Amino acid sequence: MYDVIIIGSGLGGLECGYILSKAGLKVAIVEKNSQIGGCLQTFKRFGVKFDTGVHYIGSLNEGAFLNRLFTYFNLFKDIELSALNSNAYDTYCIGGKSYQFAVGYEEFAVQLAESFPGNYAEIKRYVQKIKEIAENSPIYNLSRINDADFFTSYPAMTSVNDFVASFTNNVMLQNVLAANWPLYGGQKNQSQAYIHAIINNSYMQGAYRIAGGGDTIAHSLANSICDFGGEILTRSEVVEILCDSEKATAVRLADGRILEAKNIISNIHPVATLQKLHTNLIRKAYRERIAGLSNTISNFTVYIKFKENRVPYLNSNFYYHENENVWNAEPYDIQHYPKNYLYMHQCYKAVPEYAQSAVLIGNMHYRNVAKWKDSSTGKRGADYQAFKQEIAYRMLAGLEEKFPNIHNNIEAFETSSPLTYRDYTATCEGSTYGILHNKNFPLQSTVAHKTKIPNLFFTGQNIYAHGILGVTIGALITCNEFVPLPL
Ligand SMILES: Cc1cc2nc3c(=O)[nH]c(=O)nc-3n(C[C@H](O)[C@H](O)[C@H](O)COP(=O)(O)OP(=O)(O)OC[C@H]3O[C@@H](n4cnc5c(N)ncnc54)[C@H](O)[C@@H]3O)c2cc1C
Repeated sequence: MYDVIIIGSGLGGLECGYILSKAGLKVAIVEKNSQIGGCLQTFKRFGVKFDTGVHYIGSLNEGAFLNRLFTYFNLFKDIELSALNSNAYDTYCIGGKSYQFAVGYEEFAVQLAESFPGNYAEIKRYVQKIKEIAENSPIYNLSRINDADFFTSYPAMTSVNDFVASFTNNVMLQNVLAANWPLYGGQKNQSQAYIHAIINNSYMQGAYRIAGGGDTIAHSLANSICDFGGEILTRSEVVEILCDSEKATAVRLADGRILEAKNIISNIHPVATLQKLHTNLIRKAYRERIAGLSNTISNFTVYIKFKENRVPYLNSNFYYHENENVWNAEPYDIQHYPKNYLYMHQCYKAVPEYAQSAVLIGNMHYRNVAKWKDSSTGKRGADYQAFKQEIAYRMLAGLEEKFPNIHNNIEAFETSSPLTYRDYTATCEGSTYGILHNKNFPLQSTVAHKTKIPNLFFTGQNIYAHGILGVTIGALITCNEFVPLPL
Protein backbone atom coordinates (compact mmCIF):
# COMPACT_ATOMS: atom_id res chain seq x y z
CA MET A 1 0.00 0.00 0.00
CA TYR A 2 1.41 3.36 -1.04
CA ASP A 3 0.99 6.51 1.03
CA VAL A 4 0.42 8.45 -2.20
CA ILE A 5 -0.14 7.44 -5.80
CA ILE A 6 0.31 10.24 -8.32
CA ILE A 7 -1.44 9.86 -11.67
CA GLY A 8 0.74 11.40 -14.41
CA SER A 9 4.40 12.35 -14.51
CA GLY A 10 4.01 15.90 -15.81
CA LEU A 11 5.93 18.62 -13.99
CA GLY A 12 3.26 18.83 -11.29
CA GLY A 13 3.27 15.07 -10.67
CA LEU A 14 7.07 14.90 -10.52
CA GLU A 15 7.32 17.88 -8.19
CA CYS A 16 4.71 16.36 -5.85
CA GLY A 17 6.64 13.09 -6.04
CA TYR A 18 9.82 14.93 -5.08
CA ILE A 19 8.30 16.78 -2.11
CA LEU A 20 6.46 13.79 -0.69
CA SER A 21 9.15 11.14 -1.19
CA LYS A 22 11.73 13.53 0.28
CA ALA A 23 9.46 13.81 3.33
CA GLY A 24 9.61 10.01 3.70
CA LEU A 25 6.22 9.05 2.25
CA LYS A 26 5.92 5.91 0.12
CA VAL A 27 5.13 7.34 -3.29
CA ALA A 28 4.47 5.91 -6.75
CA ILE A 29 4.00 7.97 -9.91
CA VAL A 30 2.09 6.15 -12.65
CA GLU A 31 2.55 7.41 -16.19
CA LYS A 32 0.77 6.16 -19.30
CA ASN A 33 3.62 6.95 -21.71
CA SER A 34 7.04 5.36 -21.96
CA GLN A 35 8.58 8.80 -21.53
CA ILE A 36 8.06 10.85 -18.37
CA GLY A 37 7.48 14.60 -18.21
CA GLY A 38 4.19 15.31 -20.03
CA CYS A 39 4.77 18.71 -21.65
CA LEU A 40 8.44 18.47 -20.64
CA GLN A 41 8.82 15.56 -23.07
CA THR A 42 11.23 15.93 -25.94
CA PHE A 43 11.55 13.88 -29.10
CA LYS A 44 14.40 13.25 -31.52
CA ARG A 45 14.13 13.74 -35.29
CA PHE A 46 16.90 14.14 -37.84
CA GLY A 47 19.42 13.69 -35.00
CA VAL A 48 18.10 16.73 -33.11
CA LYS A 49 16.21 16.90 -29.82
CA PHE A 50 13.03 19.01 -29.90
CA ASP A 51 11.14 20.47 -26.96
CA THR A 52 7.38 20.04 -27.05
CA GLY A 53 6.15 22.19 -24.19
CA VAL A 54 8.74 24.32 -22.49
CA HIS A 55 10.61 27.00 -24.38
CA TYR A 56 11.32 29.79 -21.97
CA ILE A 57 10.90 30.31 -18.27
CA GLY A 58 10.72 33.47 -16.18
CA SER A 59 11.64 34.32 -12.62
CA LEU A 60 14.77 32.13 -12.62
CA ASN A 61 17.24 34.89 -11.87
CA GLU A 62 19.20 34.76 -8.60
CA GLY A 63 16.88 35.33 -5.63
CA ALA A 64 13.64 35.26 -7.69
CA PHE A 65 10.75 33.09 -6.58
CA LEU A 66 11.11 30.26 -9.10
CA ASN A 67 14.88 30.25 -8.67
CA ARG A 68 14.36 29.57 -4.95
CA LEU A 69 11.92 26.79 -5.76
CA PHE A 70 14.26 25.22 -8.35
CA THR A 71 17.01 25.36 -5.71
CA TYR A 72 14.74 23.48 -3.30
CA PHE A 73 14.12 20.87 -6.04
CA ASN A 74 17.92 20.61 -6.45
CA LEU A 75 17.49 21.19 -10.17
CA PHE A 76 20.51 23.38 -10.75
CA LYS A 77 22.82 20.38 -10.44
CA ASP A 78 21.34 19.04 -13.70
CA ILE A 79 20.01 21.94 -15.74
CA GLU A 80 21.84 24.72 -17.52
CA LEU A 81 20.11 28.06 -17.96
CA SER A 82 20.63 30.22 -21.00
CA ALA A 83 19.57 33.83 -20.45
CA LEU A 84 17.60 35.42 -23.27
CA ASN A 85 18.70 38.83 -24.52
CA SER A 86 17.96 41.14 -21.60
CA ASN A 87 17.17 44.04 -23.96
CA ALA A 88 14.77 41.96 -26.00
CA TYR A 89 13.77 38.62 -24.52
CA ASP A 90 10.70 38.95 -26.75
CA THR A 91 10.47 40.72 -30.10
CA TYR A 92 7.00 41.49 -31.44
CA CYS A 93 6.41 42.09 -35.11
CA ILE A 94 2.95 43.60 -35.27
CA GLY A 95 1.49 44.92 -38.49
CA GLY A 96 5.02 45.20 -39.88
CA LYS A 97 6.57 47.13 -36.97
CA SER A 98 8.92 45.77 -34.34
CA TYR A 99 8.78 46.13 -30.53
CA GLN A 100 10.96 44.68 -27.77
CA PHE A 101 10.34 43.61 -24.18
CA ALA A 102 13.34 44.03 -21.85
CA VAL A 103 14.20 42.33 -18.56
CA GLY A 104 13.84 44.59 -15.50
CA TYR A 105 10.82 46.68 -14.51
CA GLU A 106 12.43 50.03 -15.31
CA GLU A 107 14.24 48.66 -18.36
CA PHE A 108 10.96 47.28 -19.70
CA ALA A 109 9.36 50.72 -19.52
CA VAL A 110 12.38 52.49 -21.01
CA GLN A 111 12.70 50.01 -23.85
CA LEU A 112 9.04 50.16 -24.84
CA ALA A 113 9.01 53.95 -24.53
CA GLU A 114 11.52 54.01 -27.41
CA SER A 115 8.60 52.90 -29.59
CA PHE A 116 6.06 54.99 -27.67
CA PRO A 117 7.97 58.11 -26.55
CA GLY A 118 4.88 59.92 -25.32
CA ASN A 119 3.67 56.99 -23.21
CA TYR A 120 6.52 56.31 -20.80
CA ALA A 121 4.49 57.26 -17.69
CA GLU A 122 1.63 54.97 -18.77
CA ILE A 123 3.97 52.06 -19.45
CA LYS A 124 5.61 52.64 -16.08
CA ARG A 125 2.20 52.53 -14.38
CA TYR A 126 1.39 49.30 -16.25
CA VAL A 127 4.65 47.69 -15.12
CA GLN A 128 4.08 48.71 -11.51
CA LYS A 129 0.58 47.25 -11.60
CA ILE A 130 1.83 43.98 -13.09
CA LYS A 131 4.32 43.69 -10.24
CA GLU A 132 1.74 44.62 -7.62
CA ILE A 133 -0.87 42.14 -8.87
CA ALA A 134 1.69 39.33 -9.12
CA GLU A 135 3.15 39.97 -5.69
CA ASN A 136 -0.28 40.16 -4.05
CA SER A 137 -1.61 37.10 -5.83
CA PRO A 138 -1.96 33.77 -4.04
CA ILE A 139 0.69 32.46 -6.43
CA TYR A 140 3.33 34.44 -4.55
CA ASN A 141 1.52 34.24 -1.19
CA LEU A 142 0.66 30.61 -0.81
CA SER A 143 -1.22 31.13 2.45
CA ARG A 144 -3.79 33.13 0.46
CA ILE A 145 -4.65 30.34 -1.97
CA ASN A 146 -8.02 29.68 -0.36
CA ASP A 147 -8.72 33.41 -0.24
CA ALA A 148 -11.94 33.73 -2.22
CA ASP A 149 -11.57 37.52 -1.93
CA PHE A 150 -8.66 37.48 -4.39
CA PHE A 151 -10.63 35.50 -6.95
CA THR A 152 -13.46 38.02 -6.78
CA SER A 153 -11.16 41.05 -6.89
CA TYR A 154 -10.13 43.32 -9.77
CA PRO A 155 -7.27 41.22 -11.29
CA ALA A 156 -9.41 38.07 -11.41
CA MET A 157 -12.55 39.84 -12.64
CA THR A 158 -10.98 42.03 -15.32
CA SER A 159 -10.18 40.88 -18.83
CA VAL A 160 -6.68 41.32 -20.26
CA ASN A 161 -8.14 43.65 -22.85
CA ASP A 162 -9.80 45.93 -20.30
CA PHE A 163 -6.70 45.75 -18.14
CA VAL A 164 -4.28 47.02 -20.79
CA ALA A 165 -6.81 49.61 -21.97
CA SER A 166 -7.01 50.99 -18.43
CA PHE A 167 -3.45 52.38 -18.74
CA THR A 168 -3.51 54.09 -22.10
CA ASN A 169 -5.73 55.34 -24.90
CA ASN A 170 -2.98 54.52 -27.37
CA VAL A 171 -4.55 51.55 -29.15
CA MET A 172 -1.26 50.40 -30.65
CA LEU A 173 0.36 50.34 -27.22
CA GLN A 174 -2.62 48.35 -25.90
CA ASN A 175 -2.02 45.83 -28.67
CA VAL A 176 1.70 45.54 -27.95
CA LEU A 177 1.04 44.98 -24.24
CA ALA A 178 -1.45 42.21 -25.04
CA ALA A 179 0.60 40.67 -27.86
CA ASN A 180 1.96 37.75 -25.85
CA TRP A 181 -1.51 36.29 -25.29
CA PRO A 182 -0.33 33.03 -26.95
CA LEU A 183 1.58 32.41 -23.70
CA TYR A 184 -1.68 31.73 -21.92
CA GLY A 185 -4.05 30.98 -24.80
CA GLY A 186 -5.57 34.39 -24.18
CA GLN A 187 -9.13 35.31 -25.02
CA LYS A 188 -9.61 39.05 -25.40
CA ASN A 189 -12.67 39.46 -23.20
CA GLN A 190 -12.30 36.40 -21.00
CA SER A 191 -8.71 35.81 -19.91
CA GLN A 192 -7.99 37.22 -16.49
CA ALA A 193 -5.64 40.17 -15.97
CA TYR A 194 -4.21 38.17 -13.06
CA ILE A 195 -2.85 35.39 -15.31
CA HIS A 196 -1.42 37.99 -17.72
CA ALA A 197 0.23 39.73 -14.75
CA ILE A 198 1.93 36.72 -13.15
CA ILE A 199 3.37 35.59 -16.50
CA ASN A 200 4.60 39.01 -17.55
CA ASN A 201 5.98 39.71 -14.10
CA SER A 202 7.99 36.50 -14.19
CA TYR A 203 9.62 37.33 -17.54
CA MET A 204 10.32 40.93 -16.54
CA GLN A 205 12.35 39.45 -13.69
CA GLY A 206 14.49 37.37 -16.06
CA ALA A 207 13.79 35.13 -19.06
CA TYR A 208 15.70 31.91 -19.72
CA ARG A 209 15.83 28.94 -22.03
CA ILE A 210 16.89 25.56 -20.70
CA ALA A 211 20.01 24.53 -22.59
CA GLY A 212 19.72 20.88 -23.56
CA GLY A 213 15.92 20.71 -23.35
CA GLY A 214 13.08 20.76 -20.84
CA ASP A 215 13.31 17.01 -20.29
CA THR A 216 16.42 17.64 -18.20
CA ILE A 217 14.04 19.06 -15.56
CA ALA A 218 11.93 15.89 -15.66
CA HIS A 219 14.94 13.55 -15.46
CA SER A 220 16.52 15.48 -12.61
CA LEU A 221 13.30 15.30 -10.57
CA ALA A 222 12.84 11.61 -11.42
CA ASN A 223 16.38 10.71 -10.32
CA SER A 224 15.88 12.52 -7.01
CA ILE A 225 12.53 10.79 -6.45
CA CYS A 226 14.16 7.37 -6.97
CA ASP A 227 17.01 8.37 -4.61
CA PHE A 228 14.39 9.24 -1.97
CA GLY A 229 12.83 5.78 -2.42
CA GLY A 230 9.91 6.77 -4.67
CA GLU A 231 8.81 4.70 -7.68
CA ILE A 232 7.99 5.83 -11.21
CA LEU A 233 6.00 3.36 -13.28
CA THR A 234 5.90 4.17 -16.99
CA ARG A 235 3.58 2.51 -19.56
CA SER A 236 1.05 2.41 -16.73
CA GLU A 237 -2.17 4.09 -17.76
CA VAL A 238 -4.74 4.62 -15.03
CA VAL A 239 -8.19 3.65 -16.31
CA GLU A 240 -10.12 3.81 -13.04
CA ILE A 241 -9.85 5.34 -9.59
CA LEU A 242 -11.47 2.93 -7.15
CA CYS A 243 -13.37 4.17 -4.09
CA ASP A 244 -15.17 2.72 -1.08
CA SER A 245 -18.12 4.53 0.48
CA GLU A 246 -15.92 7.30 1.92
CA LYS A 247 -12.70 7.70 -0.01
CA ALA A 248 -10.44 6.65 -2.87
CA THR A 249 -8.66 3.35 -2.27
CA ALA A 250 -6.68 2.37 -5.38
CA VAL A 251 -6.08 2.87 -9.09
CA ARG A 252 -6.73 0.29 -11.75
CA LEU A 253 -4.25 0.26 -14.65
CA ALA A 254 -5.00 -0.59 -18.27
CA ASP A 255 -3.16 -3.91 -17.92
CA GLY A 256 -5.40 -4.91 -15.00
CA ARG A 257 -3.00 -4.21 -12.13
CA ILE A 258 -4.54 -2.59 -9.04
CA LEU A 259 -2.34 -0.35 -6.91
CA GLU A 260 -3.67 0.52 -3.46
CA ALA A 261 -3.00 3.87 -1.83
CA LYS A 262 -3.98 5.92 1.20
CA ASN A 263 -4.09 9.04 -0.97
CA ILE A 264 -4.23 9.85 -4.67
CA ILE A 265 -3.03 12.97 -6.48
CA SER A 266 -4.19 13.43 -10.05
CA ASN A 267 -1.82 15.34 -12.33
CA ILE A 268 -4.16 14.93 -15.29
CA HIS A 269 -7.02 17.10 -16.47
CA PRO A 270 -9.90 17.24 -13.94
CA VAL A 271 -12.39 16.14 -16.62
CA ALA A 272 -10.25 13.06 -17.37
CA THR A 273 -9.91 12.40 -13.64
CA LEU A 274 -13.67 12.52 -13.05
CA GLN A 275 -14.23 10.16 -16.00
CA LYS A 276 -12.20 7.58 -14.09
CA LEU A 277 -14.37 7.88 -10.98
CA HIS A 278 -17.55 5.83 -10.89
CA THR A 279 -18.67 6.82 -7.42
CA ASN A 280 -21.47 8.89 -6.00
CA LEU A 281 -18.94 10.61 -3.73
CA ILE A 282 -18.70 13.06 -6.63
CA ARG A 283 -21.96 14.88 -7.08
CA LYS A 284 -23.52 15.51 -10.46
CA ALA A 285 -23.34 19.29 -9.97
CA TYR A 286 -19.54 19.16 -9.47
CA ARG A 287 -19.09 16.93 -12.51
CA GLU A 288 -21.19 19.31 -14.60
CA ARG A 289 -19.31 22.36 -13.36
CA ILE A 290 -15.92 20.87 -14.25
CA ALA A 291 -17.15 19.48 -17.58
CA GLY A 292 -18.58 22.90 -18.47
CA LEU A 293 -15.28 24.78 -18.17
CA SER A 294 -13.62 25.99 -21.38
CA ASN A 295 -10.09 24.99 -22.24
CA THR A 296 -7.35 27.05 -23.85
CA ILE A 297 -6.75 26.71 -27.57
CA SER A 298 -4.40 24.01 -28.90
CA ASN A 299 -1.49 24.56 -31.27
CA PHE A 300 0.15 23.51 -34.52
CA THR A 301 3.93 23.33 -34.36
CA VAL A 302 6.63 23.05 -37.02
CA TYR A 303 9.90 21.62 -35.66
CA ILE A 304 12.76 22.80 -37.86
CA LYS A 305 16.25 21.39 -38.26
CA PHE A 306 18.66 23.89 -39.81
CA LYS A 307 21.65 23.10 -41.98
CA GLU A 308 24.83 23.19 -39.91
CA ASN A 309 26.32 26.58 -39.00
CA ARG A 310 24.01 28.53 -41.27
CA VAL A 311 21.52 30.33 -39.04
CA PRO A 312 22.87 32.67 -36.35
CA TYR A 313 21.29 31.88 -32.98
CA LEU A 314 18.40 34.24 -32.22
CA ASN A 315 18.48 34.97 -28.51
CA SER A 316 15.01 36.48 -28.52
CA ASN A 317 11.56 34.99 -29.03
CA PHE A 318 9.88 36.29 -32.16
CA TYR A 319 6.13 36.87 -32.06
CA TYR A 320 4.41 37.71 -35.32
CA HIS A 321 0.95 39.25 -35.61
CA GLU A 322 -0.21 39.92 -39.14
CA ASN A 323 -2.53 42.71 -38.08
CA GLU A 324 -2.17 45.66 -35.72
CA ASN A 325 -5.10 44.23 -33.82
CA VAL A 326 -3.34 41.34 -32.08
CA TRP A 327 -6.66 39.81 -31.09
CA ASN A 328 -7.53 39.54 -34.76
CA ALA A 329 -5.83 36.13 -34.92
CA GLU A 330 -9.02 34.78 -33.32
CA PRO A 331 -11.33 33.73 -34.87
CA TYR A 332 -9.41 32.64 -37.95
CA ASP A 333 -10.39 31.03 -41.18
CA ILE A 334 -8.24 27.93 -41.82
CA GLN A 335 -7.87 29.02 -45.46
CA HIS A 336 -5.97 32.07 -44.20
CA TYR A 337 -4.06 30.38 -41.40
CA PRO A 338 -1.87 31.51 -39.67
CA LYS A 339 -2.46 35.13 -38.73
CA ASN A 340 0.07 34.90 -35.94
CA TYR A 341 2.93 32.66 -34.84
CA LEU A 342 5.73 32.35 -32.31
CA TYR A 343 9.22 31.46 -33.59
CA MET A 344 11.97 30.35 -31.20
CA HIS A 345 15.42 28.89 -31.58
CA GLN A 346 16.39 26.03 -29.30
CA CYS A 347 19.70 26.04 -27.49
CA TYR A 348 21.87 23.11 -26.57
CA LYS A 349 24.50 25.04 -24.70
CA ALA A 350 24.11 28.53 -23.27
CA VAL A 351 23.84 31.07 -26.11
CA PRO A 352 25.42 29.11 -28.97
CA GLU A 353 26.68 30.92 -32.07
CA TYR A 354 24.45 29.04 -34.52
CA ALA A 355 21.01 27.53 -34.09
CA GLN A 356 20.64 23.81 -34.75
CA SER A 357 16.88 23.90 -34.60
CA ALA A 358 13.78 26.01 -34.01
CA VAL A 359 10.08 25.72 -33.31
CA LEU A 360 7.38 27.66 -35.10
CA ILE A 361 4.10 27.58 -33.18
CA GLY A 362 0.65 28.71 -34.23
CA ASN A 363 -2.51 28.57 -32.14
CA MET A 364 -4.92 26.08 -33.66
CA HIS A 365 -8.40 24.90 -32.74
CA TYR A 366 -9.12 21.21 -32.29
CA ARG A 367 -12.05 21.55 -34.69
CA ASN A 368 -9.56 21.96 -37.57
CA VAL A 369 -8.35 18.38 -37.05
CA ALA A 370 -11.48 16.90 -35.50
CA LYS A 371 -12.30 14.85 -38.59
CA TRP A 372 -9.26 12.65 -37.78
CA LYS A 373 -10.13 12.39 -34.08
CA ASP A 374 -10.71 8.62 -34.15
CA SER A 375 -7.27 7.89 -35.59
CA SER A 376 -4.06 7.22 -33.67
CA THR A 377 -0.51 8.53 -34.04
CA GLY A 378 1.14 7.43 -37.27
CA LYS A 379 -2.13 6.03 -38.65
CA ARG A 380 -4.12 9.15 -39.42
CA GLY A 381 -4.04 8.77 -43.21
CA ALA A 382 -2.74 10.58 -46.27
CA ASP A 383 -5.24 13.46 -46.11
CA TYR A 384 -4.11 14.31 -42.56
CA GLN A 385 -0.48 14.27 -43.72
CA ALA A 386 -1.42 16.54 -46.64
CA PHE A 387 -3.24 18.93 -44.29
CA LYS A 388 -0.22 19.12 -41.98
CA GLN A 389 2.14 19.61 -44.92
CA GLU A 390 0.07 22.45 -46.31
CA ILE A 391 -0.17 24.25 -42.96
CA ALA A 392 3.57 23.81 -42.40
CA TYR A 393 4.41 25.25 -45.83
CA ARG A 394 2.14 28.23 -45.17
CA MET A 395 3.77 28.85 -41.80
CA LEU A 396 7.25 28.53 -43.31
CA ALA A 397 6.29 30.92 -46.13
CA GLY A 398 5.21 33.44 -43.48
CA LEU A 399 8.53 32.98 -41.71
CA GLU A 400 10.40 33.52 -44.95
CA GLU A 401 8.80 36.96 -45.27
CA LYS A 402 10.33 38.02 -41.96
CA PHE A 403 13.58 36.02 -42.24
CA PRO A 404 14.45 36.12 -45.96
CA ASN A 405 16.24 33.07 -47.31
CA ILE A 406 15.49 31.00 -44.18
CA HIS A 407 14.02 28.22 -46.35
CA ASN A 408 17.42 27.64 -47.94
CA ASN A 409 18.83 26.94 -44.49
CA ILE A 410 16.23 24.38 -43.47
CA GLU A 411 17.40 20.78 -43.74
CA ALA A 412 14.20 19.10 -42.58
CA PHE A 413 11.07 19.67 -40.55
CA GLU A 414 8.44 17.76 -38.58
CA THR A 415 4.98 18.87 -37.44
CA SER A 416 2.52 18.30 -34.62
CA SER A 417 -1.18 19.14 -34.42
CA PRO A 418 -3.81 19.37 -31.66
CA LEU A 419 -4.26 15.59 -32.05
CA THR A 420 -0.60 15.05 -31.20
CA TYR A 421 -1.01 16.93 -27.90
CA ARG A 422 -4.31 15.20 -27.17
CA ASP A 423 -2.64 11.80 -27.55
CA TYR A 424 0.74 12.47 -25.91
CA THR A 425 -0.35 14.41 -22.83
CA ALA A 426 -4.07 13.47 -22.76
CA THR A 427 -5.17 17.11 -22.48
CA CYS A 428 -8.75 17.84 -23.54
CA GLU A 429 -8.79 18.44 -27.30
CA GLY A 430 -5.03 19.01 -27.19
CA SER A 431 -5.50 22.20 -25.16
CA THR A 432 -2.11 23.89 -24.74
CA TYR A 433 -2.52 25.19 -21.19
CA GLY A 434 -5.60 23.38 -19.88
CA ILE A 435 -8.53 25.17 -18.30
CA LEU A 436 -9.10 28.77 -19.39
CA HIS A 437 -9.12 31.14 -16.43
CA ASN A 438 -12.18 33.20 -17.21
CA LYS A 439 -12.86 36.60 -15.67
CA ASN A 440 -16.60 36.04 -16.11
CA PHE A 441 -16.41 32.94 -13.87
CA PRO A 442 -13.34 33.67 -11.75
CA LEU A 443 -14.11 31.27 -8.92
CA GLN A 444 -15.56 28.48 -11.02
CA SER A 445 -12.69 28.52 -13.54
CA THR A 446 -10.07 28.31 -10.79
CA VAL A 447 -10.15 24.62 -9.93
CA ALA A 448 -8.97 23.97 -6.37
CA HIS A 449 -6.50 21.24 -5.48
CA LYS A 450 -9.03 19.63 -3.11
CA THR A 451 -11.76 17.49 -4.62
CA LYS A 452 -15.04 16.28 -3.13
CA ILE A 453 -13.25 13.09 -2.07
CA PRO A 454 -11.19 13.70 1.10
CA ASN A 455 -8.04 11.79 0.01
CA LEU A 456 -8.10 12.69 -3.70
CA PHE A 457 -6.31 15.86 -4.85
CA PHE A 458 -5.50 17.63 -8.09
CA THR A 459 -2.21 19.14 -9.16
CA GLY A 460 -0.78 20.46 -12.45
CA GLN A 461 -1.62 23.19 -14.90
CA ASN A 462 -5.37 22.85 -14.57
CA ILE A 463 -5.52 24.06 -11.01
CA TYR A 464 -4.42 27.56 -10.03
CA ALA A 465 -2.14 28.47 -12.95
CA HIS A 466 -0.24 26.84 -15.84
CA GLY A 467 3.40 27.07 -16.98
CA ILE A 468 6.52 26.08 -15.10
CA LEU A 469 5.92 28.73 -12.44
CA GLY A 470 2.18 28.09 -12.03
CA VAL A 471 2.54 24.31 -11.92
CA THR A 472 5.43 24.44 -9.44
CA ILE A 473 3.42 26.58 -7.07
CA GLY A 474 0.41 24.30 -7.56
CA ALA A 475 2.56 21.31 -6.52
CA LEU A 476 3.56 23.06 -3.28
CA ILE A 477 -0.07 23.84 -2.52
CA THR A 478 -1.20 20.26 -3.16
CA CYS A 479 1.62 18.80 -1.07
CA ASN A 480 0.88 21.21 1.76
CA GLU A 481 -2.08 18.87 2.48
CA PHE A 482 0.52 16.29 3.57
CA VAL A 483 3.65 18.15 4.68
CA PRO A 484 4.58 21.72 5.71
CA LEU A 485 5.56 24.06 2.87
CA PRO A 486 9.24 23.53 2.09
CA LEU A 487 9.87 27.29 1.71
C1 LIG B 1 3.35 23.90 -26.86
C2 LIG B 1 3.54 24.30 -25.42
C3 LIG B 1 4.48 25.26 -25.11
C4 LIG B 1 4.67 25.65 -23.78
N1 LIG B 1 5.66 26.56 -23.49
C5 LIG B 1 5.90 26.89 -22.21
C6 LIG B 1 6.96 27.77 -21.88
O1 LIG B 1 7.70 28.19 -22.76
N2 LIG B 1 7.13 28.11 -20.58
C7 LIG B 1 6.32 27.64 -19.58
O2 LIG B 1 6.52 28.01 -18.41
N3 LIG B 1 5.31 26.78 -19.86
C8 LIG B 1 5.09 26.40 -21.14
N4 LIG B 1 4.08 25.52 -21.44
C9 LIG B 1 3.21 25.06 -20.35
C10 LIG B 1 3.85 23.98 -19.48
O3 LIG B 1 4.62 23.12 -20.25
C11 LIG B 1 2.72 23.20 -18.79
O4 LIG B 1 1.85 24.10 -18.13
C12 LIG B 1 3.22 22.17 -17.77
O5 LIG B 1 4.37 21.48 -18.18
C13 LIG B 1 2.09 21.19 -17.49
O6 LIG B 1 2.47 20.30 -16.48
P1 LIG B 1 1.40 19.36 -15.75
O7 LIG B 1 2.00 18.96 -14.46
O8 LIG B 1 0.07 20.01 -15.71
O9 LIG B 1 1.32 18.03 -16.59
P2 LIG B 1 1.26 17.58 -18.11
O10 LIG B 1 2.49 18.06 -18.78
O11 LIG B 1 -0.06 17.87 -18.71
O12 LIG B 1 1.43 16.01 -17.93
C14 LIG B 1 0.39 15.14 -17.56
C15 LIG B 1 0.96 13.73 -17.61
O13 LIG B 1 -0.09 12.82 -17.26
C16 LIG B 1 0.00 11.69 -18.11
N5 LIG B 1 -1.30 11.03 -18.15
C17 LIG B 1 -2.43 11.47 -18.73
N6 LIG B 1 -3.43 10.60 -18.55
C18 LIG B 1 -2.91 9.57 -17.82
C19 LIG B 1 -3.46 8.37 -17.31
N7 LIG B 1 -4.74 8.02 -17.49
N8 LIG B 1 -2.65 7.52 -16.59
C20 LIG B 1 -1.34 7.84 -16.37
N9 LIG B 1 -0.78 8.98 -16.86
C21 LIG B 1 -1.56 9.84 -17.57
C22 LIG B 1 0.42 12.27 -19.44
O14 LIG B 1 0.97 11.29 -20.31
C23 LIG B 1 1.44 13.31 -18.98
O15 LIG B 1 2.73 12.74 -18.88
C24 LIG B 1 3.88 25.09 -22.75
C25 LIG B 1 2.94 24.10 -23.06
C26 LIG B 1 2.79 23.69 -24.37
C27 LIG B 1 1.80 22.60 -24.68
